[in-house]
Amino acid sequence: MTVKYSYPIFTVFGTTVNIDISWLFAFILISFSLAEGFFPSLYPNLPAFQYWLVATVSAVFLFLSVLLHELSHSLVAIKHGIPVKDIYLFIFGGVALIEQEPKHPSVEFKVAIAGPIMSFFLAGMFFSFAYIYPKDNLLNGFINYLFLANLSLAVFNLIPAFPLDGGRILRSILWSKKDLLEATYIASKFGRYFGFFLIFLGGVSFLFGYFINGLWLIFLGVFIWKASKQAYLSTKISSILSRYRADNFLTTMSPLFYDEPVDNYLKMYFPFYRTYIYPVITSEGDIKFLLYEDLKKLPSYELEGRNAGDFARKYNYVLDPSEDLVRAYKLMLRKKLKEIPAVYNNTFVGILKRDVIEDLIKNYLRDEDADSTGRG
Ligand SMILES: [Zn+2]
Repeated sequence: MTVKYSYPIFTVFGTTVNIDISWLFAFILISFSLAEGFFPSLYPNLPAFQYWLVATVSAVFLFLSVLLHELSHSLVAIKHGIPVKDIYLFIFGGVALIEQEPKHPSVEFKVAIAGPIMSFFLAGMFFSFAYIYPKDNLLNGFINYLFLANLSLAVFNLIPAFPLDGGRILRSILWSKKDLLEATYIASKFGRYFGFFLIFLGGVSFLFGYFINGLWLIFLGVFIWKASKQAYLSTKISSILSRYRADNFLTTMSPLFYDEPVDNYLKMYFPFYRTYIYPVITSEGDIKFLLYEDLKKLPSYELEGRNAGDFARKYNYVLDPSEDLVRAYKLMLRKKLKEIPAVYNNTFVGILKRDVIEDLIKNYLRDEDADSTGRG
């Protein structure tokens, strides 16, 4: 999903809640349709500001409901040792960015069902409020709206269309019987069918003159269709990369010593190895790194006659060469890194390049395409 135009608003339990710009659009659209449609049709002849006040408050509470739903997913994930750094709220609701695939189907099941349980709980709460406060006025309308909204959130998310919660539940059940990739394949197929179904429904609504609803359904359908394809691809890539250890893919080179000229890197090794990071052994015997981007910023007279040790610095991301490629690749994507050095016991082992991993993935996916077309 796109998280380009999102802004962090606060952090709870180590999870940052971000609002995407598209959510503001949804907020305005929901407030508008409640203030001009839903509430006036149920409780006519009230001053416009009352409709707008209750509509805006309702939209805020809807936002809080979605937030509580997502927080329930992330709290259960964190409880099982899976970090959740971000929650994004965007036009179609929210998404908790769960950093890794759960290790076990039962964990995936619990994480997935936590959100709908929260929404059912909130629906139940507003339902009892409506029971306590049965008067036929705007406040009762507000309570009923939140009851319906939370109930819809729970029910919609339980549709078994991966990556919706229901699709994740389906995947966890299939996964307990088959392997993860096959389970994901089936669950994401349901996701794609459901996406197509919504697009079709949107097209029909459009033909019958329900333009806004039609457009909304088409966008939602496209979103779910794309998300299910994307989620399957990401599981597939993880499954490919988990078969390889990083040390088989390293570009290896001898580190520079701190008292060697820094030009050796720029003029001799960079043209050969094409790595934007180069290891340096410090006078204390530690490993530090030259960064191409640091050096390129400097005018050439500042580099003349200087040693590698003058520019070497610590690098924030290093990996253990015995690790598989999954974590390294995810880290590279998240931090937009082209390379990560591998260090073992304070000894430099090599540099892992993102291009190398991506070529590996491409080769796998290409072979598979060739296989499936071969079979016809
Ligand atoms: Zn959910």
